[in-house]
Amino acid sequence: MSSDSPVIDPGARPLPWRSATIVAIAAVTARVKNFRLRVAFDRPMLAGQHVDVRLTAPDGYQAQRSYSIASAPNEEGWIDLMIEGLPDGEVSGFFDTVAEVGDTIELRGPIGGSFVWRPEDGGPLLLVGGGSGVVPLLSMLRHRAVRAPDVPALLLYSARDAGEVLARDELLQRARDEAGFDLMLNLTRETGGRRIDAALIAEALERIGRPRHAYLCGSNGFVGHAADLLVDAGLAPATIRTERFGG
Ligand SMILES: Cc1cc2nc3c(=O)[nH]c(=O)nc-3n(C[C@H](O)[C@H](O)[C@H](O)COP(=O)(O)OP(=O)(O)OC[C@H]3O[C@@H](n4cnc5c(N)ncnc54)[C@H](O)[C@@H]3O)c2cc1C
Repeated sequence: MSSDSPVIDPGARPLPWRSATIVAIAAVTARVKNFRLRVAFDRPMLAGQHVDVRLTAPDGYQAQRSYSIASAPNEEGWIDLMIEGLPDGEVSGFFDTVAEVGDTIELRGPIGGSFVWRPEDGGPLLLVGGGSGVVPLLSMLRHRAVRAPDVPALLLYSARDAGEVLARDELLQRARDEAGFDLMLNLTRETGGRRIDAALIAEALERIGRPRHAYLCGSNGFVGHAADLLVDAGLAPATIRTERFGG
């Protein structure tokens, strides 16, 4: 969860809260929905960034959380968020059970200066995501497909089971159709499933070669574990960027 202090950009300009309208809602998995929001930012977004969402109750109580942007940067005035409805989750619960097309919410962004990938950053790219941590990596892959399809990329994506894999059909199709995109799905709760370990990381590194950039995203535990494995496998820490969703 982001802090309540104002988000300041490098030019020391506070990011304003903006009103965003939900224009479409679609189920992604049993627990995750995609929300398309119409919003006008005053700066271009970069793949990997997130927004802060703020909800205000009638009595003035406010709750604020961060959500990664799943869509690729575009100039059409919309973004996609993929939000997992957590039991009793204050903000994700609102999205899961209350939010409807036509509702307006407050958000600010796009936020994030380090966990971003631009086409000119090149590759090879090693993307490692756990659970909903795949969301900003999806934005990078969608952006790469349009703007830099020659950049080699491998996504090592760990989810509990096949039913929890976000954008599963899209990822499988990209792996089939896009030269230079490789997918390793690791299903921890299916037969023979395991946590990401040294052998999986070694296989990923063998398949992608020496990555120029590695982006890791997921829960605190997942990201810490994956980063340790990559460093143990000889990757320079400076090539590794991380985003932690908490938990
Ligand atoms: C940069 C960033 C990007 C993120 N991007 C995404 C994204 O793309 N998609 C996504 O789904 N999430 C994302 N998150 C996580 C998101 O910000 C929220 O943390 C998440 O949605 C949970 O918020 P919540 O208000 O629903 O749950 P909270 O109310 O904060 O509760 C979190 C969990 O704790 C449990 N809990 C709450 N209160 C109690 C209590 N009193 N006792 C015991 N348990 C309790 C709840 O049941 C719930 O499971 C991101 C986080 C960060 C920092």
